[in-house]
Amino acid sequence: MTSQVIIGNWKMNGLVADARTLARAVADGVSSDTGPRVVVCPSFVHLSTVAAELSGSAVALGAQDCHHEGRGAFTGDISAPMLADIGVRYVILGHSERRAGHQELDEMVRQKAVAAASAGLVPVVCVGETQDQRAAGQARDVIGYQIEGSLPQDFAGIVAYEPVWAIGTGQSASIDDIADMMAFIRAELARQFGEGGKTMQILYGGSVTPRDASAILRVAEVGGALVGGASLKPESFLDIVRASA
Ligand code: PEP
Repeated sequence: MTSQVIIGNWKMNGLVADARTLARAVADGVSSDTGPRVVVCPSFVHLSTVAAELSGSAVALGAQDCHHEGRGAFTGDISAPMLADIGVRYVILGHSERRAGHQELDEMVRQKAVAAASAGLVPVVCVGETQDQRAAGQARDVIGYQIEGSLPQDFAGIVAYEPVWAIGTGQSASIDDIADMMAFIRAELARQFGEGGKTMQILYGGSVTPRDASAILRVAEVGGALVGGASLKPESFLDIVRASA
């Protein structure tokens, strides 16, 4: 059985010293032999510091975005080859905060996923409906379209289901809702990608805490968790790691 993946998304938090301390605590708390794959995603400017702290540990390094081109005149952007070059292995793409705050559309996310894979990174593509879409009964349509538009046809990465209304609210989706959407996403992946879609790893994200991690990580089709707020507290994040199968 594929091991679960627990990813910490540190977002735009902390200074260098905070990133170093957090990375060290996570590296010390994760053993190499058992449990899930563990990934932390600091901000771009903290990647090298965190890479040094994680060196020799069982924790992998991830980034929170990348550009869809490998190089060129794109002021302020960071390419996938640049990330791979400094030891990044995973990259979060299409996070709802980037879709909303940087007008990232499915097609752009898809191009980024292609760029990430060709640089040898594992793309972690986020999908999720807003509260309004959910209330209007559109959750499944929205997720279906996001999968179709954001994942390249040869996608071999990870999908993260992150209902926008559950992110950063302290209120994760209910176990029944997660189970329902996971079953839908699995069926959709199988429909759109055939055999590959049957084994693609699907994470849940949205206010995961140590309190509910165990139940969430045991829902059928949940292949791990994408953790925001709780990943900034080493003990909380490590409790979530320990709650994994
Ligand atoms: C996220 O932003 O990816 C996330 C899951 O955040 P939080 O855990 O804080 O809801």
